[in-house]
Amino acid sequence: MKLESHFFTNEARILDEQTPMDVLKEITNQPNQEDPFYILDAGDIVQKIKYWRLMMPRVKPFYAVKCNDDLTVLELLAALGTGFDCASKSEMQRVLSLGVEPSRIIYAHPCKPQSHIKAAAKNNIDLMTFDNEAELYKVKAICPQAKLVLRIRCDAEEAQCPLGIKFGVYPEDAGTLLATAQALDLNVVGVSFHVGSGCKDPPVFLRAIAESRQVFDLASEYGFSTYLLDIGGGFPGDEGSSLDELASIINSALDEHFPQGCGVEIIAEPGRYVVASAFTLATNVVAKREVKGNNNELVSTMYYINDGVYSSFNCILYDHQKVEPIALKNDNNLDEYDCSIWGPTCDGLDQVVMEARLPKMAIGDWIIWKNMGAYTLAAAGSFNGFPKANVHVVVPHHTWMYLEEYMGTKFVLGEANNSEQPWLLPAYQHSLCSTRIQDKNNCSANN
Ligand code: PLP
Repeated sequence: MKLESHFFTNEARILDEQTPMDVLKEITNQPNQEDPFYILDAGDIVQKIKYWRLMMPRVKPFYAVKCNDDLTVLELLAALGTGFDCASKSEMQRVLSLGVEPSRIIYAHPCKPQSHIKAAAKNNIDLMTFDNEAELYKVKAICPQAKLVLRIRCDAEEAQCPLGIKFGVYPEDAGTLLATAQALDLNVVGVSFHVGSGCKDPPVFLRAIAESRQVFDLASEYGFSTYLLDIGGGFPGDEGSSLDELASIINSALDEHFPQGCGVEIIAEPGRYVVASAFTLATNVVAKREVKGNNNELVSTMYYINDGVYSSFNCILYDHQKVEPIALKNDNNLDEYDCSIWGPTCDGLDQVVMEARLPKMAIGDWIIWKNMGAYTLAAAGSFNGFPKANVHVVVPHHTWMYLEEYMGTKFVLGEANNSEQPWLLPAYQHSLCSTRIQDKNNCSANN
């Protein structure tokens, strides 16, 4: 049956018996299908949020939109009642356009263009971070009513993407900024930090939370009534990774330094955790070249696929991602051979994997890549005219039922118009959806 969900703007398919991987295979088997595409498993995101709330009930997630601003992801999170960390005017507008209340948004960029501060103020987004003096003067001039969150620097010993080199004031220098904020009669309401994205040093959260406590105490000496701690991002998101160790360290650090009932609200800005494993990318082998040795023996094969570092795989350059190819073959017991995998553009830099082992691949075969949701599509371009991969959304039936129950509404499932791809669900009634979100999902009430 063709179905219409009346929930997501983009087409989505509700799965009964099938798995997301079944759908991926089905698409690769469609005639003339060659372009790269993603499968977005909405169920994966719902599970992540449920697990977060189970493991860290005191910490409200404000999803970092920069990590992946796919509309379905945002609609899902809006429905689930999370908050949002936005870094720019257009991210704020994208989230607001879903009917999300401004109070569910933190403008979490310590160095903001003036026009973006203006846009925030105009849209009643008044919670924003800062880490330098110049920012305070800008905010004073444009949005003096802002609720300011002081970002301190506390770096993980090891992180996939360290951020401290660019943002955050060392706690010992926080006093100067607090003094300026006081002199300008600004309102400092809290402290934030980001230990580094892809944090490999869980105990850093203990240090960062302890240091935040000290800055809270300092802020009260300057007369500020602080009530917000923002513990940033850094949480792992790949399939098989675990939140448990970080959650246990964070929970006990909070109990020690910000115990329940102390009047401080705790938020975090997870990006990678929410989306990484929900997206699987399928790429097509468009060309190949055999590399021969001196005796004409096969040394390796170069496979050229239709997505590369200028598009989804920019994560290799910018996010220091290690990506793993999986050959989509009916037989899982084929012999494997040395190969390298290259993107489609004319640039020699466009190499996806330098050394891999895969079965022999033919032109038109598919290579898939798991854990491709974080910092991939968000920074993808179309260099050399190669299009960005489309996203196909799938919603496991139990996820669909959970969403209905969570939102207290039955959604209409009806016939969709697209006869060529019967499973696709073009659907959206914006006013319907946003009304529900506003009614039910007040962030502070539902987290
Ligand atoms: N918050 C801020 C201010 C960031 O800069 C980032 C990532 O760069 C995030 C949150 C998300 O971090 P992660 O994806 O590690 O959770």
